[in-house]
Amino acid sequence: MNILDLEKEECTACAACMNTCPNGSIKMISDEEGFLYPDVDVRVCINCGLCKLACPVINNIVSEKNQNPDTYAAWSLDEEVRLNSTSGGIFTELSRTVISKGGYVSGAKYLPNHLAEHTIINDENNIDILRQSKYVQSEIKFVFKNIKSLLDSGKAVMFVGTPCECGGLIKYLEKKYENLLVVDFICRGSNSPKAYLKYLNGLKIKYKSDIKKVWFKNKINGWNKFCTKIEFENGIDYYADRYTDLYMTGYLKYNLFMRPCCSNCRFKGFPRNSDITLGDFWGIQLKDSQLDIEKGVSLVIINSAKGQLCFDALDGKIFKEKNSIEFAIKNNPCAVKSVNIGRERQYFFDRVEESDFEEIIKSIVDKNKDEG
Ligand SMILES: Cc1cc2nc3c(=O)[nH]c(=O)nc-3n(C[C@H](O)[C@H](O)[C@H](O)COP(=O)(O)OP(=O)(O)OC[C@H]3O[C@@H](n4cnc5c(N)ncnc54)[C@H](O)[C@@H]3O)c2cc1C
Repeated sequence: MNILDLEKEECTACAACMNTCPNGSIKMISDEEGFLYPDVDVRVCINCGLCKLACPVINNIVSEKNQNPDTYAAWSLDEEVRLNSTSGGIFTELSRTVISKGGYVSGAKYLPNHLAEHTIINDENNIDILRQSKYVQSEIKFVFKNIKSLLDSGKAVMFVGTPCECGGLIKYLEKKYENLLVVDFICRGSNSPKAYLKYLNGLKIKYKSDIKKVWFKNKINGWNKFCTKIEFENGIDYYADRYTDLYMTGYLKYNLFMRPCCSNCRFKGFPRNSDITLGDFWGIQLKDSQLDIEKGVSLVIINSAKGQLCFDALDGKIFKEKNSIEFAIKNNPCAVKSVNIGRERQYFFDRVEESDFEEIIKSIVDKNKDEG
């Protein structure tokens, strides 16, 4: 029963509804594609309507953020941080500042089964748990509720997530908190946990070992090679670039396993709801060929005065150079435009239960060979 008045293909799984439900009648349940959706237990639901009010899709968020935000190319001066981050490591530098002042950071961590889930940390030694992009949808669980408790007790919190997750948090909280910093990133889209586990299971069988660590966009061959590194328990290290890794092929070339709402994302564009937007500064070498880009360059878009203050606090710890938002977006269209649903998406999900991941992707590549 759809108490939420929300079409399934519009739901982002931000879980603001579940976090706000006063009597626990909403749970997030996986559908046949492996994506989570709210499920309302009508025997317990008291029809209070709070879930509808918390939904960032049903209710537009009125953004007071800057229409023409300042834009920077930046990276951490700590080489270890820069190399081990997806872009230029600005997330880690922001986290260090927040935690050093007694604050908390919420972001996505890997679980032992390699799926992703949001958590909250307040120890600098744990920042690496949140570091790096996980190309599978992170489960929010009750993190919004816990963030609200921290904010209400006066603690500073930085939340990092997809633009829709940030929208969910802002709508759930409703009240404006001076002690909250919201950081989103340019997001291509969230992938199905089912597709991702199928991919990993195929590799486990192929390499006859459990997986120790998944590392997308590893920089061993440079920042822009999109190298996937998977470390196996048996000592084997798997490396493949965006053209040879079958998961990246399915994600970046054929748009096979993204959440339906990602093809019509309402949280892209400007003004953003967040204080800071992070991303990769693709194409920066065209503007400044002297820049040393191989270890990764962050795109940093400052959407609010609070965001500017927090970014300025990184002076001395980062390299930064002002740039134009138009140039940044031109080379990173996902900032403003959703990617289309892949033509072979249904073909993929019709087979994902029965067939081998490698077999399905290779058959899609074959079907589309003539189109290059
Ligand atoms: C699914 C996805 C798609 C992306 N698409 C683009 C894109 O099209 N263009 C672009 O320029 N940048 C994209 N990014 C952002 C980019 O990859 C970097 O995450 C960002 O630039 C921050 O890099 P960093 O070096 O500062 O920090 P990193 O150390 O890489 O920081 C990672 C941060 O992202 C959070 N995070 C990681 N995975 C997830 C997840 N699945 N869900 C929610 N939060 C997560 C972590 O908690 C951490 O806070 C995407 C990221 C993800 C997760």
